[in-house]
Amino acid sequence: RALEASSSNDTDPTLFKQEFSLADRVALVTGGNRGIGLELALALVEAGTRAVYCVDLPEAPGDEFAKVREYASQLKGTGGDARLEYISADVTDQNAMWKIGEAVGDREGRMDVCVAAAGTLRGDTPCLTYPAKQFEEQVIAVNVNGVLYTAQAAGQQMDRFGKGGSIIMIASISGHGANKGHPWVSYNTSKSAVLQMARSMACELGPKNIRVNTISPGYINTSMTGQFLAKRPELVETWSSQNPLGRIGRPDELRGIVAWLASDASSFCTGSDILVSGGHHAW
Ligand code: NDP
Repeated sequence: RALEASSSNDTDPTLFKQEFSLADRVALVTGGNRGIGLELALALVEAGTRAVYCVDLPEAPGDEFAKVREYASQLKGTGGDARLEYISADVTDQNAMWKIGEAVGDREGRMDVCVAAAGTLRGDTPCLTYPAKQFEEQVIAVNVNGVLYTAQAAGQQMDRFGKGGSIIMIASISGHGANKGHPWVSYNTSKSAVLQMARSMACELGPKNIRVNTISPGYINTSMTGQFLAKRPELVETWSSQNPLGRIGRPDELRGIVAWLASDASSFCTGSDILVSGGHHAW
């Protein structure tokens, strides 16, 4: 039986293309108001999802989101009906996240994809005097607890509908190493935790065909990195020179990998981390 399950009898070449399709799928994306989260929500829409629910902190979505939503609505008929929805919530609120998952499940009758991209970087705090409140409430609560609650919210619905699913957590190269000149003890710790959270959840949820993977981006040009570059413009040169491709990445350079991980084309990939860093992975 094990051998049968692992042998493919596909002879139809169109099946290859179908494997990448997200037609009719439903997704939950956190941090979807801007930056990487919004870019990845757009990737899911373009890959044909029926609806992508974006969770973020502001009460109302920003202009960038509105533009993407308008563009998405014009994609009707390309696979799904390309709905981009906005929900204001704090990922650190477990109860709120579970309720969001349930509401999406009730409305759509399925949950297939989850991208946990909400995150925060409050760096440059010396490790020996890092205040506990700031460490826990401002960083760990969002980057670790928030990712868990997001994965729970989507995973509960994937389990409920019994079709399996794909949970993708945005970790970071900062979860793999530490960088001299950047006292980011909270951020680095939180991203390492995400890598291990995904592996552990992948083991537990594998029998339900719910896959859990991480993407570890290198430096990507968003408002998160922008806050440092505004204060220390010389970092553009430093970060670029550390990178084999000689530059900082763009959010759209993560689109292909998330579309692949969300789709059946990655059906045997779980518990994995994929570096998208221009080759920059060790200091
Ligand atoms: P941004 O700061 O541009 O976007 C992060 C988004 O998450 C914001 O919209 C933010 O909302 C939201 N968010 C923060 N806290 C919460 C919360 N408690 N509840 C709900 N939403 C919240 O960052 P990026 O797009 O750059 O980062 C996205 C992810 O990618 C993060 O997990 C980050 O750690 C990771 N990453 C980023 C890299 C980079 O170089 N940019 C590199 C590696 C990983 P608000 O604006 O209201 O604060």
